[in-house]
Amino acid sequence: MKVVIVGSGPSGLASAIYARKNNNEVIILERNNDICKKILLTGNGKCNYFNENQDITHYHSSNDNLISNIITEKNLNDILAFFDELGIVPKIKNGYYYPYSNQASSVKQVLLSKIDELGIKVIYDYLVTDIKKENDKFIINNDIICDKLILSTGSKAYPKTGSDGNGYNLVKKFNHNINKVMPALVKLKSDDKYLKELKGIRSDCKISIYKDNEFIKSETGEIQLTDDAISGICVFNLSYLANKYIESKNNVHILVNFIPFIDNKDELLKYLDDRCKKIKNKKMKEFFDGLLNYKLSNVILKKSNINLDSYYKDLSKKEKETLVSNINSYDFNIISSYSYDNSQVCMGGVPLDEINLLTMESKKEKNLYIIGELLDVNGDCGGYNLTFAFITGMISGISIK
Ligand SMILES: Cc1cc2nc3c(=O)[nH]c(=O)nc-3n(C[C@H](O)[C@H](O)[C@H](O)COP(=O)(O)OP(=O)(O)OC[C@H]3O[C@@H](n4cnc5c(N)ncnc54)[C@H](O)[C@@H]3O)c2cc1C
Repeated sequence: MKVVIVGSGPSGLASAIYARKNNNEVIILERNNDICKKILLTGNGKCNYFNENQDITHYHSSNDNLISNIITEKNLNDILAFFDELGIVPKIKNGYYYPYSNQASSVKQVLLSKIDELGIKVIYDYLVTDIKKENDKFIINNDIICDKLILSTGSKAYPKTGSDGNGYNLVKKFNHNINKVMPALVKLKSDDKYLKELKGIRSDCKISIYKDNEFIKSETGEIQLTDDAISGICVFNLSYLANKYIESKNNVHILVNFIPFIDNKDELLKYLDDRCKKIKNKKMKEFFDGLLNYKLSNVILKKSNINLDSYYKDLSKKEKETLVSNINSYDFNIISSYSYDNSQVCMGGVPLDEINLLTMESKKEKNLYIIGELLDVNGDCGGYNLTFAFITGMISGISIK
């Protein structure tokens, strides 16, 4: 059987390797002059390809309930065996898997040598723009004919890597729907008037996203503040929700607890009262030294209308309450996210219920397979997106016999 795979990202390459092992003739069409352009950027050049914690809640989709058909224990074990077969030795840090070499380029290299070894042909600089189906065969760009077609063209995130969303148009030709595509794992822009003063601060926090006044979800981790946005892995992990709610015209707020080891406002007030007794009579401009970033405490005091030269013991009940609130629940109004140029992945894509998840074959078009980020699944930071791409590639390749 002649199999054509459009796109040489992790999903396309896994699919190619497994389909070739089933003795199919396999051709990969790639618009770039090399494979795996995006993989080279992953994990800050180190490629975080897997995570020990495979709780299904790290994957998100409009069809959340279907993800467990893909992220199964068997598939997770099989994909780890695939990495092992390729020669990738894991270096595991806090559950995050990287190649022991610490180099994303080595992941690309082992994939390249595997496709060479198996005799898989890659045609570079080949942009697929047109696909037709006649007499049960796919005809690509009026040029290449095949029996089975696998679309692994990625999403719209980081378009300079080659995945610019053109794949959505290719699947639409086969009557597939596309669930609203938006940037995910991306910085969130805020109109907070103090951001310019907060720029450059990194702080360990607990952050919570609210839709209108409704609590949705929390994350903990380091937040990074820039002159127009909040960033950091914990922010990235909530960014798909922020974009989803902004799109549906809700007010989106991220509340930040800058002293995350105290969750409760009453306890924080007691903690500050005790601190006042401990450190004696310090002016408010010195009160947080050794606890909060200096720039941050100054902004929090300013936002709370508290004079820097005043003393904690002299603050009114109301002033203490405002101070506690601004430390425990600093309110960033979120207006948008950064664009696809800066987002690591996209939410949205081809709905999972249009795909047979045991084979990744389209339910709308026989012998057409859709895999990887083109599908409506986005994972958290931590290796989940590469795992999803590799697993869906593996499932499709195995099923093509
Ligand atoms: C900066 C950055 C860091 C990231 N870090 C991580 C990380 O550490 N861990 C993690 O799990 N995930 C990470 N990701 C996400 C991860 O890289 C993607 O989810 C994954 O690469 C998606 O794989 P894919 O095979 O679906 O598509 P892609 O990797 O996007 O590959 C698609 C391929 O298809 C080609 N193509 C597109 N259209 C056509 C066409 N019409 N004709 C021919 N070829 C075409 C493209 O050129 C591209 O080579 C990161 C992403 C970015 C941008």
